[in-house]
Amino acid sequence: MGKNAELRCRCGSVHGIVSGASPSAVNRVVCYCDDCQAFAHRLGRADLLNAQGGSDIIQVAPASLTFTQGQDHIRGIRLTPKGLYRWYANCCNTPVGNTLSPAVPFVGIIACAFDHGTQRAEDVFGKPTGAILGKYAVGQAPAGSTGINLSLLVRAIGKVLGWRLGGRVWPHPFFRRDDGAAIYPLEVLASEDREALRPLCGPHPAARL
Ligand SMILES: [Zn+2]
Ligand SMILES: [Zn+2]
Repeated sequence: MGKNAELRCRCGSVHGIVSGASPSAVNRVVCYCDDCQAFAHRLGRADLLNAQGGSDIIQVAPASLTFTQGQDHIRGIRLTPKGLYRWYANCCNTPVGNTLSPAVPFVGIIACAFDHGTQRAEDVFGKPTGAILGKYAVGQAPAGSTGINLSLLVRAIGKVLGWRLGGRVWPHPFFRRDDGAAIYPLEVLASEDREALRPLCGPHPAARL
């Protein structure tokens, strides 16, 4: 059985708990996609990206994440009308979870939200098991990050299916069960605002980072 891992935004206003936390309970992957990069830039948090633009993401079961403090700071952004829901704390613009709708149950949380005090994400969740979408990486794509990583894909699908079948969807930290609506205020970026972020992102950023 895992332990409880505490999630915190950078300024400490928003707290959450991931229960049953352990390397085998989650999927930890570094994502180099341009949407993850665009989201970090939109928040003014390029510091969250590694040197190649990667976001270190820990995917957990929705029902394992509970916010315990500062919920009034939580907001959501979709980069496009059908894009991922990207939730963040607006006190300090720290991402606190990426989701699809509850039909595809997972919450992807930036690993550094678990690094605070004496807690280290690596001690709780282990190291990343791989990297994906390296074709969008800034500069040299990290080894093994381009093309389809079948074992990561199978693992990710297995986790999400297991969470769905195992009743780990509800209570969902970002959606109400009765009508499926988002719990927190949500914004869909205008297409010109989405486009304005592209020069900042890989694979070939045109603007200085
Ligand atoms: Zn904060
Ligand atoms: Zn991504």
